[in-house]
Amino acid sequence: MINFDFDKDCYSCGLCETSCPTQAITFKPNVEASLVPNVAIDLCINCGKCDRICPHLNPPSCNNSLSTADAYAAYNKDEKVRLASSSGGLFKLLADLFIKNGDYVCGCVWDNQMLPVHIVSNKPEDILKMMGSKYIGSIAKNCYEEIKHLLKANHKVLFTGTPCQLDALYRYVGSQPNLYTMGVICHGVAIPSIWKQYLEKLENQYGKVINYKFRDKTLGWTNFFNKITFASNKTICYNVSVDALYMKAFLKGFILRERCFSCTFKGDKMKADLLVGDFWELPKKYNQIDDDKGLSCILVLSNQGRFLFEQIRSGVHFIPVEREEIFKGNQNLLRPYPKPLERDAFIAEIEAGEKDLYTIFNNYVKPKDTYNRIKLSFKKLLFKLGIYKPFYKLSRYLRKRL
Ligand SMILES: Cc1cc2nc3c(=O)[nH]c(=O)nc-3n(C[C@H](O)[C@H](O)[C@H](O)COP(=O)(O)OP(=O)(O)OC[C@H]3O[C@@H](n4cnc5c(N)ncnc54)[C@H](O)[C@@H]3O)c2cc1C
Ligand code: SF4
Ligand code: SF4
Ligand code: SF4
Repeated sequence: MINFDFDKDCYSCGLCETSCPTQAITFKPNVEASLVPNVAIDLCINCGKCDRICPHLNPPSCNNSLSTADAYAAYNKDEKVRLASSSGGLFKLLADLFIKNGDYVCGCVWDNQMLPVHIVSNKPEDILKMMGSKYIGSIAKNCYEEIKHLLKANHKVLFTGTPCQLDALYRYVGSQPNLYTMGVICHGVAIPSIWKQYLEKLENQYGKVINYKFRDKTLGWTNFFNKITFASNKTICYNVSVDALYMKAFLKGFILRERCFSCTFKGDKMKADLLVGDFWELPKKYNQIDDDKGLSCILVLSNQGRFLFEQIRSGVHFIPVEREEIFKGNQNLLRPYPKPLERDAFIAEIEAGEKDLYTIFNNYVKPKDTYNRIKLSFKKLLFKLGIYKPFYKLSRYLRKRL
């Protein structure tokens, strides 16, 4: 019967629950509000199925072809879609390929309480909701059975998510010719209870949140704004280098789920057809593809991935790159994000609930406020004057030369 420190090591994949023949396992939220198993000992018949399927107890054995993968820098030629996406907008192109043929896509949407959850759908309006990264742990376990049925009924399914979610799905349904996967390069996911506290603060101030866009590109992709929309139609934007405290805490690792600091789905242990992420450190020689509207890196890991890339090729602007150029700027692909030294103290303060959330964020992830505010105001001015683009190109060029 499954039994280890779930708070630390459980991926919340739900495979133990689905494999239990006596329904002895249910899920309950832990202190992080992540879902972890709860075993009713009186119902357990000690069959050991949960132990045999658990990814923590049976770490991934796959050796993917990361070291021989085809690698590209790419973006969607449809500028509207690209600007609405987190990186280069490849997800939407892939998803459309499936739903256009009556097939299905599984991806992450906000539920009506602004918590991320995976759904399976073939409706265009749901694909729009799946677009955009939601940097909090999403529950995917309720989709696995539905995907199994769809595959049995000869439908093609595209599953998109974090490498641990992809692994759970492969363990549940096996490798199948009609199953296609797009994994995201993964920094980790945030603790749901802190996200809920943060939402509550926003809602107390401005009313119900109806959308949260973590990667608003109004002032360019690299300028990185969070755009929040409220039921009253009010919107606010926080910049990551100035006042987007929640996002800063995420990027610096303070609010990552404990499990993510020792994630095993890194390097050649990720099974996926395609791996997609942000192409941050594009080398100088490819400057022509970088216009600050969002650029993806894409690694093609299997023949199914190659097939998918062929299908979307005409809709993307792309150039082949060296794999190492992607690895260099994206260490999250190769190793878990390192746990910040002060992270336990930060979490203890949040759990104590004595201080205001923003005060704690400020104490630990204090932005270089004044300098960044001036820098941002300067960029906004350049935007207004319509000369931001040449300035951006020049500053990227100079940074790479120096
Ligand atoms: C939690 C998380 C961490 C990430 N960390 C990195 C990183 O460290 N480095 C990097 O280069 N890229 C990272 N990415 C990937 C990047 O943010 C983009 O999602 C990716 O490049 C795809 O962008 P796109 O423009 O093609 O599509 P978008 O339209 O932005 O596609 C979003 C896709 O992400 C999926 N998704 C959204 N939220 C979640 C979630 N909570 N859990 C699982 N899947 C989700 C959707 O189902 C959809 O397929 C991360 C993404 C997520 C979700
Ligand atoms: S050992 Fe078998 S019966 Fe017991 S909880 Fe695990 S799967 Fe269920
Ligand atoms: S099977 Fe998944 S949900 Fe169950 S204990 Fe293992 S990691 Fe956690
Ligand atoms: S870092 Fe690892 S454990 Fe955390 S969400 Fe990403 S793939 Fe899953």
